[in-house]
This record gives sequence, C-alpha cells and structure tokens, in this order.
Amino acid sequence: MNRTVLIAGGGIAGMAAGFAAARAGCSATVFERAAEFSEVGAGVQLGPNVTRILQAWGLTHALKQVAAFPSGLHARSIITGETLASLPLRDAAVTYGAPYVTLHRADLHELLWQAAQREGVQVLGDALVQRVHQTRDVVTFDVLARGDVQQHLAAVAVAADGVWSPLREQLLGDGLPSFTGHIAYRALVAQSDLPAHLRSQDVSVWMGSQAHVVSYPVRGGEYLNVVCLAEGRLLDDDANHLQALQTWNAQKTEAQTLTELHHALRGACTPLTDLMGACRDWRLWPLCGRPAMQGPHEHVQGRVALVGDAAHPMLPYLAQGAGMAIEDVAELASQLADATDADVPQRLQSFAQARWQRNARVQARARRNGQIFHATGPMRVGRDMGLRLMGARLMDVPWLYGHGRS
Ligand SMILES: Cc1cc2nc3c(=O)[nH]c(=O)nc-3n(C[C@H](O)[C@H](O)[C@H](O)COP(=O)(O)OP(=O)(O)OC[C@H]3O[C@@H](n4cnc5c(N)ncnc54)[C@H](O)[C@@H]3O)c2cc1C
Repeated sequence: MNRTVLIAGGGIAGMAAGFAAARAGCSATVFERAAEFSEVGAGVQLGPNVTRILQAWGLTHALKQVAAFPSGLHARSIITGETLASLPLRDAAVTYGAPYVTLHRADLHELLWQAAQREGVQVLGDALVQRVHQTRDVVTFDVLARGDVQQHLAAVAVAADGVWSPLREQLLGDGLPSFTGHIAYRALVAQSDLPAHLRSQDVSVWMGSQAHVVSYPVRGGEYLNVVCLAEGRLLDDDANHLQALQTWNAQKTEAQTLTELHHALRGACTPLTDLMGACRDWRLWPLCGRPAMQGPHEHVQGRVALVGDAAHPMLPYLAQGAGMAIEDVAELASQLADATDADVPQRLQSFAQARWQRNARVQARARRNGQIFHATGPMRVGRDMGLRLMGARLMDVPWLYGHGRS
C-alpha cells in the first residue's frame, strides 16, 4: 500500500487532509460526490490556532490574497447598538503568534484545493464513496464514479464527509445528527453598496434574545458577510428533508424568510435593521449537530480516521468548525509523517487521543456561547453587564487560540 491515503469528501476537511497527507509524504486521493467543486455558503472566521497551521503549511501568501484582517471583535447590543465589549484582534498576531482572519468559505476551499493539487493530490469529482471495508492490513473504498463502482485500496482512509457522514453511519452506527432548533440566515453584501456608516472591516456580534447577528468582512474586505442565527422552527424537521436543505438554498420563500428575520430581530436598533435591510438574497441553513464527542472511538475505527464535521459537528458560536477540521488533519499528518503501513492503526489511535477531548471541549463551549448569546430576561441583563465590566477578558479564549504554540 506504501503510505496511500484515501479521503471521502472534498470539503474543507477533505481538501486540507489531502494536502497535509501529501505534505507528510503520503500518496493521497480525495473523492467528492459532487461533480463540481463549489464551496458556496458563508464566510468563516479563523482564529490564530488555525492560521498558525496555515502559516506552517506555507500558505501565508495565499491567505493574504483573499482574507480580511479585522482589527477588532465587538460585542454589541441588538437593542441599543451599544458596544458592550471589544477584543482587539490585531493583537492576536502578537499574543498568539498568528493573525485572526475572516474570509469566504469558497476562497478558503480554493486555497486548499490549489495547495493540494500543487502537492500532487489526486482530486476526483463525481465520485461517491459508497462503503468502506477493512482488514488488519488494508482499507478499501467502494467508489461509484460515472456509473461504475470501483475498489480503491490504501493503508489509511479518512472520512471527511461532513455532518451527515455516511461513513460514520456505517462505522459507528450512532444515528443521524438532529436539528438543534437554531437556523442560520446568511447574506453577502458589497461594501460599496452600503452607506458609509454601515461599512465595516471589523467583526461585530450583535447579541439579542434567542437570536444574534454576526457580520465581518470577506473577499479581502470588499464584501460584508452577515449571518443572523435565530432559534426557530422548520416546516419539516424530518432528517432526510434536513439533509437536502444543507446547501445554503432557502427552503422557504424570500417573503417567509424576511418575515422570520423581522420577527427574530424585533426591537433591534436602527443601524442593525438598516444593515439587514440593505442585504438581499437571504439563504438559510438549519443547524444540525450531535452531543460533544464521548471518546477516541468517534475519531478512529481501525484504519479509518474521522475528521471535521463527520467526527464533531458543532454550533458555529465559537467560529471553530472548519478550524477544528484543520487542526484534526494537521495532527493526523504529523502522526503519519514517519509511519510505516504497519504502524498506521497505532498512529491513528495516537491521533484520536490527541484530538477528541479538545474537540469535545470546543463543541461544549460553542453550545454554551449559544446560550449566552441568546440569553433572555435577567440572564441577558447579567450578560450585558458582565461584558461591560470584563470586556476583552470575557471574549479572549487563550486555551483555544494558544493551542499548539511552541
Ligand atoms: C452558519 C455557519 C457559520 C460557520 N462559521 C464558521 C467559522 O466562522 N469558522 C469556522 O471554523 N467554521 C465555521 N463553520 C463551520 C464550518 O463551515 C464547518 O465546520 C466545515 O465547513 C466542515 O467542513 P467538512 O469538510 O468537515 O464538511 P463539509 O464542508 O460538509 O464537506 C463534506 C464534503 O463531503 C462530501 N461527501 C459527503 N458524503 C460523501 C460521500 N459518500 N462520498 C464523497 N463525498 C461525500 C460532501 O459533498 C461535501 O463536499 C460555520 C458553519 C455554519 C453553518
């Protein structure tokens, strides 16, 4: 098998896994079921824990071409617009040795894809991984491509097939993710289409009750990514239906979506309603998840490693889902760097031990952030007061951002 790695899924986790494995001297192939590689959707924020890895991978220049480098993160009240607390993000590069960046998901994906291709990774579209089989010595994918099923053999397989991971279902059989009761509504607006007072190169988190709004620059600062995260109901919570919705395409009519947004943000201050009003073409995304990871078995089964949302889907309230996927594959690649094929099962166990508790902690913290961001009544008053008093100390997360710093 000679250090071959097969990867199911060509999203951010899969593309990063291909790149990192090839950089570690493995021969990597990525199978993506979609015929076209197009990362649609929203922006992503990447903390210094993640940009440190991209720097180590030699991707600093590529990142600078597409990312924005916000100077601050501001927690604001949805009702009054008041800035409750600010975290200076430019300091991140000094404190944590790497910048805090915001970028479009498609730009991050393209950057990783280009890097993977430069490393010689084979990336195949229209290639559905149907099943995985393994013996003590080898792992096999059955791949349906252009009407034919072919078998591919390797020393290692990676399940990077997302929150609805069919490989997880096959390997762990622990059921489908469930709807969290939270919906993300997202829009992208050119800064040049906004009046001057609504343009921004910073991250703003507008906190309300049962809803919050996040805005930040993407595409080198030329666009503003605006996401409203609200507790709400869907027309149909059926799992198959939910799965079909995970495309950032609105399930409801625009009129329905706007009515819901209006309801979620009732009582919001004028700057925020002006910003929301300036955005067009809202898309929605029902957030689905699982409980925090329970053990290393959720990361590794024999010669198969599960990474990214396949292993640990999380609410986006700590902005770390893609970040944890990148941390996963960096650790995986470092375990594989000098491994022989015979070492693989043991090295994958070391990978799982190194990762699962951190991922569980990030999942739990993201969930807790959701409760804080959406607090109601006296809890909300306490939240706002705490932010005013504690400021940046409440918003900084040293155990998260400082991870892996030597
Ligand atoms: C509103 C919102 C905001 C977010 N903000 C942030 C943020 O600021 N920062 C951050 O780090 N993260 C953020 N995230 C999370 C982040 O987007 C995800 O964690 C990340 O994209 C997961 O990547 P993935 O590659 O694991 O999964 P996916 O992106 O879902 O990729 C899985 C891929 O596998 C393919 N696939 C599935 N099954 C098969 C199969 N059988 N064979 C072949 N291919 C298959 C799919 O087509 C897909 O391309 C946010 C998420 C949401 C919803």
